[in-house]
Amino acid sequence: MPSQHDAHGDDGCPKCGHTETDVGTISTTGGGLSKMFDIQTNEFQVVSCLNCGYSELYRDTGSAGSDIVDVFLG
Ligand SMILES: [Zn+2]
Repeated sequence: MPSQHDAHGDDGCPKCGHTETDVGTISTTGGGLSKMFDIQTNEFQVVSCLNCGYSELYRDTGSAGSDIVDVFLG
């Protein structure tokens, strides 16, 4: 997704180039059908740029949080 290649490890926010981020977790549960089956919970990690607020959602794969920050920052 990053459009530019550079020697630097981090390009920063895809929108504004800022490199400070906040990482949070959100959970979504299934709708009406969840009553009939096991409650299904999907967890996502959200990386947000502290400067412009741009956020990307990543399904929680159990990997370390720093990995997704690296993905976000490029
Ligand atoms: Zn930004």
